[in-house]
Amino acid sequence: MSIPSETGSKTSALGQILNGEVASALWWHNVLRSPLGMVRRIRMTKKRKSGGRSKGGKGRSELVQCTNCGMLVPRDKIKRVTSRFSLVDPALARELRASGAYLARPSTFKYYCVSCAIHFGISKVRAHDERRRLY
Ligand SMILES: [Zn+2]
Repeated sequence: MSIPSETGSKTSALGQILNGEVASALWWHNVLRSPLGMVRRIRMTKKRKSGGRSKGGKGRSELVQCTNCGMLVPRDKIKRVTSRFSLVDPALARELRASGAYLARPSTFKYYCVSCAIHFGISKVRAHDERRRLY
């Protein structure tokens, strides 16, 4: 992983493509450089192999509204947070539990788009080295 020099960079870049080693997130691996110094991009860089989603080979997935901002986000991209709540008052619940009652605690789901999830600290921005390497 080194920046190809000005001379002979084309052959080294081509060699990398032929060897199949071009799949890297570093931008200079996706660049062909002619002897005149012209730069031509071969393919667009990709931050994540999955594109931040979990749909796999599926073409399309249904849309879900973000709880916070209302944006429509594909279901496989959304960040889901489960929160549980009590139907009865905490003091009363303590008494009931002491007397041996079972209290159901239903769960609600909150769906966050990526920007809202980052805003609320549900998922964090990770540096290139901290990201899961799939490529
Ligand atoms: Zn949102």
